[in-house]
Amino acid sequence: MTRATPVTDAPLADRDGVIWLDGDLVPWRQAHLHVLSHGLHYGGSVFEGERAYDGRVFKLHEHSARLVASAQEMGYALPWTAEELDAATREVVAAAGLTDGYVRPVAWRGSDTLRLVAPDSRVHVAVAAWPWPRIFADGPRGIRLHTSRWRRPAPDTAPVRAKTAAQYALGSLAGQEAERAGRDDALLLDHRGRLAEATGANLFLVLDGALHTPPPECVLDGITRRTVVALAQDLGLTVVERHLAPAELDRATEVFLTGTAYEVQPVTAVDDREYPLGEVGTALAEAYARAVRGGGTDGGGRPAGAVPAAVSDEAG
Ligand code: PMP
Repeated sequence: MTRATPVTDAPLADRDGVIWLDGDLVPWRQAHLHVLSHGLHYGGSVFEGERAYDGRVFKLHEHSARLVASAQEMGYALPWTAEELDAATREVVAAAGLTDGYVRPVAWRGSDTLRLVAPDSRVHVAVAAWPWPRIFADGPRGIRLHTSRWRRPAPDTAPVRAKTAAQYALGSLAGQEAERAGRDDALLLDHRGRLAEATGANLFLVLDGALHTPPPECVLDGITRRTVVALAQDLGLTVVERHLAPAELDRATEVFLTGTAYEVQPVTAVDDREYPLGEVGTALAEAYARAVRGGGTDGGGRPAGAVPAAVSDEAG
């Protein structure tokens, strides 16, 4: 697997530039938080991962809105609206002179108290942006997954709808396990043993020419997932949102992942099953690559949730 060489190998804390922190652009190296920050101890921080293409963040407002909603799920309100976060992000992207890059907004309860219940704790927000090439330098070429022993929790076990640090300990464990197994990423099942998602991307199977993807119940409601569903429908493909059993991987003709970082990424193996770089995934990867740079449709022409009703809700 050829990973792109990072533009800079400097540690993240030791770079030039500015970070937007609580309303101001501060020198990059001075964007600190205190060691007694609530968010550091109890995992309640929320964040986004965004991509700028040609200096413009793709689906910026959807990401800002998800950050606001994630904080609400975690029991706190951000001191900024989604529109203000949009403006802050544009400011930091412009200050960085970014054309293609990564943007990381993050919010956390500060160091006012370490009581678990901290309704009056101040909430901090930062937005950082830096150059970031495509994950795979030579375009999508397929990744190999390892089915994890870790499972995505039930909605009454963890705040599964929030993009919160609390979820990512699991992804980190699953990812480490997959890399130890010589694979690129992990495939997590959900708490009931159904197919869920990778550590940072949503899952699609091609079955009888149609796309099938798990509903966003125990998986993150990915913004790329929504975009790709709309692009697929524009291409005349049928998209079915339903619970999927692991055995359905046996008859899938293509498997791919979607996410801000991965974009549309074909999967060439899940454990001992092999898949080709198929035409459906390739067509969607091309449509997505056009959409992020403002070409063709951006898949945003219809409301989120316009996925046809499940044809079957249970996969065993
Ligand atoms: N699932 C998880 C667990 C993720 O971390 C991500 C990346 N944010 C996704 C799915 C894909 O989401 P998006 O398309 O919004 O990047």
